[in-house]
Amino acid sequence: MRIAVLSDIHSNLNALEAVLGALGPVDAIWHLGDTVGYGPRPQAVVDRLRAAGALGVRGNHDEAGGGGTCIKYFNPDGFRAMEWTRTQIDESTRLYLARLPEVRVPEGSGFTLAHGSPSDPIWEYITSSEIAQANLAAFDTPYCLVGHTHVPRLFRESRGRMKAMSVDEGGRLALDDRRMILNPGSVGQPRDGDPRSSYMLIDTAAACASWHRVEYDIAATQAAISAAGLPPNLARRLAFGW
Ligand code: ZN
Repeated sequence: MRIAVLSDIHSNLNALEAVLGALGPVDAIWHLGDTVGYGPRPQAVVDRLRAAGALGVRGNHDEAGGGGTCIKYFNPDGFRAMEWTRTQIDESTRLYLARLPEVRVPEGSGFTLAHGSPSDPIWEYITSSEIAQANLAAFDTPYCLVGHTHVPRLFRESRGRMKAMSVDEGGRLALDDRRMILNPGSVGQPRDGDPRSSYMLIDTAAACASWHRVEYDIAATQAAISAAGLPPNLARRLAFGW
């Protein structure tokens, strides 16, 4: 099976379409949450994911979009964008966001899916090998997929300790008997200094995973952010990938 792993799309339809166009044939699409928030096309992004049959989990922005009170923890730009997002989605989309599970283990896949971390799915950022280590006991599968940081990343077990490993664009990572936490990076708002959309592919037959980047029409998303009256910084940052 070929599986696409997408995270943190953040209402960026241009980015999502570019990624879907670059994937090639896949048997499944998994998303790791934060489908909405920050960006200008929340309804269209959720419609597209649902039409594609994507399996996903709930991020902090999905929870807020579904009506959750966690919006009060958002920074000012995120808060304004989320208030606007709530006016742009229909009831079916609101319920979809609210009902996304916090954690999902696709049957027989060997992967646990969570937005932030398996131990604190909505909010925790896995940014260090120490945090990755502390999360090992929180999932039962060999591998765990997380998003939330918007930075492509890999943590792999070595003699009982989780170690941060560099991620190479296009390189193939063997999914062997070492436990791993993998982050595909962000489709809609990358924050690693590379503005291109980031995603992962898993090939279960070959037992490997790979990270990929694709350019999308950043100017078009920026124009839509401006037209919607969203905070200008949410448009600016896309050009820099932060
Ligand atoms: Zn996010």
